[in-house]
Amino acid sequence: MPFTGIQYVHGGVHLPRLGLWLDPSRPKPGAVFVSHAHSDHMARHTEVVLTAPTADLMRLRLGGQRTEHRLDYGQTKSFRQGEIPFQLTLLPAGHILGSSMAYIQAGSQSLLYTGDFKLRPGFSCEPCQLRQADVLVTETTFGRPQYVLPPQETIWAELLAFCQGALSEDVTPVLMTYSLGKTQEVLAGLADSGLSFALHEQAYRMTQVCESYGVSFAPYEAFDPLFARDKVLIWPPSAMKSALLTELPRLRKAAITGWAMDASCKFRYRADAAFALSDHADFPDLLEAVGRVQPKQVWTLHGSAATFADALRQRGYNAAALSEPDQLSLVLGC
Ligand SMILES: [Zn+2]
Repeated sequence: MPFTGIQYVHGGVHLPRLGLWLDPSRPKPGAVFVSHAHSDHMARHTEVVLTAPTADLMRLRLGGQRTEHRLDYGQTKSFRQGEIPFQLTLLPAGHILGSSMAYIQAGSQSLLYTGDFKLRPGFSCEPCQLRQADVLVTETTFGRPQYVLPPQETIWAELLAFCQGALSEDVTPVLMTYSLGKTQEVLAGLADSGLSFALHEQAYRMTQVCESYGVSFAPYEAFDPLFARDKVLIWPPSAMKSALLTELPRLRKAAITGWAMDASCKFRYRADAAFALSDHADFPDLLEAVGRVQPKQVWTLHGSAATFADALRQRGYNAAALSEPDQLSLVLGC
């Protein structure tokens, strides 16, 4: 059994018999699979397997040199770096530009590792393509039944109205969201809105990389307080105390995050509004994904891993949490 002994260590998944690490957040040996360029899925590995956009974004974020196995979606490459040789195929995850799932074949067995993913089509990334596998290792960020995203067209219309309303009152709208992924989704989703955007430096540099891969965006530029008054700002939540923002007289802030499904989100972000746009699968889509993969065994990780594993067991799946204490994970093995 090639996937025996699967572990969750240092934020990533380890398949010891294959000698393969998936998304660890600390440097690991061998060719390490990096699903996408969010910082909690990367580290300074010496050898990586990933898509070209993820490689370019990783270079921008981490710098340094490493051996890169750049694979196209659907391309398969053979590796031998443990006891059992395996083939690795990257499939689009629909999470952010360049994000991929790892489809691993070893002997007669297959495993699909989703990384972060979503099934809803996005404006700035490739549509998700699931594949049937014997073992599924899935993220469960929104793995609780109450996490059901509202219709996304409604949210986009409300977000546009928020921005237009603020600008019409000579107030600068500030969209608080991550520099990679959601920034580009907002810029692509509002490409034809007539709005112009001013971006935090980090978001600006990552958007330029994404633009080099052919994504169309609304007009955007790097933030300059002298020219920002008629623009929509995009700013990471972690930089809201930046002195640059104090140079604008009136701001109206909105959080752009899937966590806006929680009523408390607006208060936690100290925002005037919150919009539930997410690059993760919500609970119904997590269930849908498992149904499509038809796995004999499911391992869950991140967010509500134990709750979602329990929900799967109630539906007849052989499921256990990999990233949270879960008594069943001790006895199942695969
Ligand atoms: Zn991510």
